[in-house]
Amino acid sequence: MSGRCTVVVGCQWGDEGKGKIVDVLAEEVDIVARYQGGANAGHTVYVADDMVVLHQLPSGILHPGKRCLLGNGVVLDIARFFEECDAVQARGVDISGRVGVSERAHLVLPYHRVLDRVLEESASATDRIGTTGRGIGPAYEFKAGRRGIRVADAADDRRFRELLDSGLERARASMPRLEPDEARALDEAVETTARLARRLREFATDTGMEVAEALASGRSVLLEGAQGTALDLDHGTYPFVTSSNTTAGGAATGIGIGPTRITSVLGVVKSYTTRVGNGPLPTAFAPEMDEHMRKLGSEFGATTGRPRRCGWFDAVLARYSARVNGLTGLAVTKLDVLDSLAEISIATAYDIEDGSCIREFPADTSTLESVEPRYETLPGWEADTSGARSLSDLPRNARAYLDRIQELTDTPIDWISVGTHRDQIVRVD
Ligand code: GDP
Repeated sequence: MSGRCTVVVGCQWGDEGKGKIVDVLAEEVDIVARYQGGANAGHTVYVADDMVVLHQLPSGILHPGKRCLLGNGVVLDIARFFEECDAVQARGVDISGRVGVSERAHLVLPYHRVLDRVLEESASATDRIGTTGRGIGPAYEFKAGRRGIRVADAADDRRFRELLDSGLERARASMPRLEPDEARALDEAVETTARLARRLREFATDTGMEVAEALASGRSVLLEGAQGTALDLDHGTYPFVTSSNTTAGGAATGIGIGPTRITSVLGVVKSYTTRVGNGPLPTAFAPEMDEHMRKLGSEFGATTGRPRRCGWFDAVLARYSARVNGLTGLAVTKLDVLDSLAEISIATAYDIEDGSCIREFPADTSTLESVEPRYETLPGWEADTSGARSLSDLPRNARAYLDRIQELTDTPIDWISVGTHRDQIVRVD
């Protein structure tokens, strides 16, 4: 019998707490694989009382014996990848033979980082995407422009060096003149990359084949997305998006399996909404409440420390995410963050400037900038939920809030997270 293949996908603007959910689900699978994104994503997970931020390695790495893969849809920053492998190992986690990187994955190279920075700096304030400056966007641009370098290229030193030099040449052509210090730093980083590339060989694999074979032999696989649906290159709030397909469809192409192999898609939603970087956030709070929620939820980016903007749960976006991802279930996170609120609102539709009301997430980002959400307000529960381990432990108003999310998204809730720790979770049977 074929094994189970579950996609875990963010359904808002990322930072939904996917890392925690993947960490919980990883217990029950044999392989955890990431299918897109680069070191711009940061999953925060806790092991005992130790906080670990993983930028590239799937959080499954913290579970002994699990195989962890980075698919072809990922862009890999070699230096950071090895740093992360070494840091995890320093915590006593044995990673030998447990990590594989697709031979088809593209590399994020030092000149991509420089391009990222100069492009963002030269954009006007309103045009800035708010990138993490890690070179992810330029790496995907090089990939689409057919001038990228892949893991498979590291197999041959000479060829790798040639590709690296010609990539640097091309990149320089679209950069302003660098200060002497910067130019030297770039050259040094390129040298380091050339040296490190050799170490990649032991990790190179065919992720599509590994996953297909595992499933065929009855083993189960979890495909982990980074960022969220509203940041998807095609389906998100373009141009304020990331450079890859974060949605569930991207899991098949980003690992190298057919979509028919996927057996379920779990959408992760935070019990309210946050957004880091620029772009529209229809349910954004007024400044005072924004500040209050940011504190309650510790809403600061795991990768950059940037404050996240906060807002009410947006059911228009969640419903859209359910459709675009073909969700089979939801995981609602950070319910505990709402514990102290007297009232909680949910956006169910948007009023737009021409006087009409829309229920679908619009493609036009400027429309989204100007919408007025229609809210439904529910009573809060004003009680501590962090100790809940079953549905019956949750206050009645908390259950009513979750029921309403289920109804509005037409998707069953499978998991409810009530704290940062692994055991602070409710499994809905
Ligand atoms: P990800 O990229 O989707 O994994 O999200 P992040 O790791 O950037 O952000 C999630 C943050 O919320 C992390 O600091 C988690 O430890 C934390 N978190 C996850 N689930 C919960 C929860 O149920 N309650 C609380 N209070 N924090 C949570």
